[in-house]
Amino acid sequence: MTDTYDEAVATYQPVIGIETHVELGTRTKMFCGCRTDFGAEPNTQVCPVCLGLPGSLPVANRAGIEATIRIGLALNCDIAAWCRMARKNYFYPDMPKNYQISQYDEPLCTDGHVDVEVDGETYRIGIERVHLEEDTGKTLHVGGATGRIHGATESLVDYNRAGIPLVEIVTKPVPGTGAKAPEVARAYVTELRDIVRSLGVSDVRMEQGSLRCDVNTSLNRPGEEWGTRSETKNVNSLRSVERAVRSEIIRQAGVLDAGARVVQETRHFQEDTGSTRSGRSKETATDYRYFPEPDLVPIAPDPAWVAELRAGLPERPSVTRARLREQWGISEVDMQAVANAGAVELIEETIAAGASPAGARKWWMGELARRANEEGVELAAVGATPAQVAELQGLVDAGKLTDKLARTVLEGVLAGEGDPAGVMAARGLGVVSDTGALVAAVDEAIAANPDIAAKVRGGKVAAAGALVGAVMNTTRGQADAKTVRELILKRLT
Ligand SMILES: [Zn+2]
Repeated sequence: MTDTYDEAVATYQPVIGIETHVELGTRTKMFCGCRTDFGAEPNTQVCPVCLGLPGSLPVANRAGIEATIRIGLALNCDIAAWCRMARKNYFYPDMPKNYQISQYDEPLCTDGHVDVEVDGETYRIGIERVHLEEDTGKTLHVGGATGRIHGATESLVDYNRAGIPLVEIVTKPVPGTGAKAPEVARAYVTELRDIVRSLGVSDVRMEQGSLRCDVNTSLNRPGEEWGTRSETKNVNSLRSVERAVRSEIIRQAGVLDAGARVVQETRHFQEDTGSTRSGRSKETATDYRYFPEPDLVPIAPDPAWVAELRAGLPERPSVTRARLREQWGISEVDMQAVANAGAVELIEETIAAGASPAGARKWWMGELARRANEEGVELAAVGATPAQVAELQGLVDAGKLTDKLARTVLEGVLAGEGDPAGVMAARGLGVVSDTGALVAAVDEAIAANPDIAAKVRGGKVAAAGALVGAVMNTTRGQADAKTVRELILKRLT
């Protein structure tokens, strides 16, 4: 596989392009007052406007426009002084109006860029446009084995998602990445996700579909014109972005090597095989018969408002990461792992609540990351707050909990039993610090294991480990092993 890829990029130059849809986290939909809560019962967040019933009229949600402008500004775009929404006409069952309100030739934001770094090299990704549109509903095919329409006995439609504001971010074609094209694509989506998350306008969860990518790839021989591109739809994880580009490069090189033409089409990424399969051939813009949306007034953001939004942009994620990496004293690789785990802010807040950087990172990147992984939830939703993690580490630092006991306390916290100190008290999990009780346990262990005690007395200090183990057993792990060892050696040597 690697050989095939190396050969492909030695012969051809890839050009990539990425279209990303970000579902905004506004409280209500883009053109009506319906709620947007994720996971609600199907068709409970709908009204005549988002169901496209005759006589209903849309009204734009200011929060959706504001979020789009802020994304545009964070991506170094120009903001249109005046633009209109457009009607994109097509029939599809999850599109109750038979058209989607979108933007066509008058996008809200244009001509930006974002820089990403791969293996120490910086690549500038041009941003063609950032525009605002509404999401469609969701179709569920049931009765078949695969969940796809083929073989299904019924198709169900949920319109809760129809009308949720969606921002589409389109890059310019990106040439010049060579063999690094898959990594550059992934780095771009990662950076975009972090930027949007830092703005607080979306939870950008790829697994829940609030950030979705379509990845375009084409190949050409050096000196020739750019090739025909394929568009791989709905790539739903960062890893898949990288794999989709790689597999398209290999597939297209095979087609071109055989003297055939690459067909312009939509392809679907298959998570199990890491390859793409052919979908429909792509519609062209004329198929959609765009025209300016007659039911909405034009958008003309006041320059003073745009200036205010620009001034209020947060620190860039790359700048934040560099600053924190310095403060925390960790490597670039470790920082990238923290960022990819979505743990930057959690660790920051845990430190602010009193933990050391190492202590905070240990819990979020260790035990809590493991739990989040197991349960398939984001780290922030795992069930412990930064304040609780700081309190837990504080108990360890004060010698009141061992690491092992702290993990048991954490289980209690995650199970909703309360804050660490409360769980420790309720479950009786504190380290036994009463020296009298410990000495008694030590004497008991020595009396019960005369052979081992004799060995230690004879100079075999390593044998003391077995006695430490015995004391830990009788104290149910609640003694500090180091103290126990000291007491044993004091008694026997
Ligand atoms: Zn509605």
